[in-house]
Amino acid sequence: MRGFTLIQTERLLHEFLELVKIDSVSGQERSICDALKGRLAALGLTVYEDNAGGAMPEATGNIVARLDGPQSGPRLLFCAHMDTVEPGRGIKPVVGAEGTVTSEGETILGADDKAGIAAILESLRIVIDEKIPHGGITVAFTVREETGLIGARSLDPSLKATYGFVLDATGPPGDIVVRAPSQDKIAATVHGRAAHAGVNPEAGINAIYVAARAIAAMNLGRIDAETTANIGVISGGKAINIVPDTVYLEGEVRSLKKEKRAEHTALLCGIIENTAREAGTRAEIYTELLYDGFDLQEKAPVVQVAVHAAIRCGLAPSLTQSGGGSDANILNARGIPTVNLATGMENVHTTRERIRVVDMVDLTRLVIEITRSAGMF
Ligand code: ZN
Ligand code: CA
Repeated sequence: MRGFTLIQTERLLHEFLELVKIDSVSGQERSICDALKGRLAALGLTVYEDNAGGAMPEATGNIVARLDGPQSGPRLLFCAHMDTVEPGRGIKPVVGAEGTVTSEGETILGADDKAGIAAILESLRIVIDEKIPHGGITVAFTVREETGLIGARSLDPSLKATYGFVLDATGPPGDIVVRAPSQDKIAATVHGRAAHAGVNPEAGINAIYVAARAIAAMNLGRIDAETTANIGVISGGKAINIVPDTVYLEGEVRSLKKEKRAEHTALLCGIIENTAREAGTRAEIYTELLYDGFDLQEKAPVVQVAVHAAIRCGLAPSLTQSGGGSDANILNARGIPTVNLATGMENVHTTRERIRVVDMVDLTRLVIEITRSAGMF
């Protein structure tokens, strides 16, 4: 029977279309959370919503659902996020003749990450219907992933699984993200001194000029194959006739090597400090590690499970690295070895977002095959 499970393509596509029609921009996941809790409970899972959203009555938590396995073996965690970016309200999915789903063009589609959710639900249906043996499945549908992996950070620390699979990477099914960077945020306020620009500019220190000199001295963009840096926000100044006394900057540094990330962050902060000092002023700088990275070896069992399942599905497995963070970063930091599986979604975070139905089918087959064979590793 291996690899020949018949995916109910119509049912999978219908589910996906229904899910993307439920608005769920980050922080407003109540409707989709309720819908998904209902679906998981109907499948017979034990369903729980945590309080990741906070204490407000309308706040939405992560869904954690459990299915006990009929046999001993590794417990598997499948994870996808419920929220979407903007513009993500009133999404009208369109299924093209060539089997590609898009939005009607005014919004994102929300395949990021509802393709992952739909694949998990469809695979659960089949695993249950066909009584495919496994050692236990945990499903986590997180909130507010897009605004900084907020939901995943709040997942119950006692949540345990042998292997984790996040379904939230771009690329064709079979691509397996095994490496992702850690990321620092940098926020700096560069102080100057206000003065009338026409009457006595000599009394002023131009904070815009100081900030600009600092930025011009920075190495930004791609630093090396593993490291990137960016200044992404700058604001300051009040009027053309005032020497500006404040500029606010925000930026980031990412690297697959945490030492390189820390080193480059320190370098950028040092440039801001030194440039301000040379100009006779000062800067306040705040840095924060937003998330840890991960780097799984090819021989790691979770990687082997995904690779061999992909092969059995007739997909070409490819170990890749990601340039950004996902819930997999948080789960790995929690001690659950977790890969991020590509779902087939394309042009994410744009109104041209799309996904092919055949890729959703392949992704679902992959999840079933992982479930079926994880005990072999
Ligand atoms: Zn996503
Ligand atoms: Ca995303």
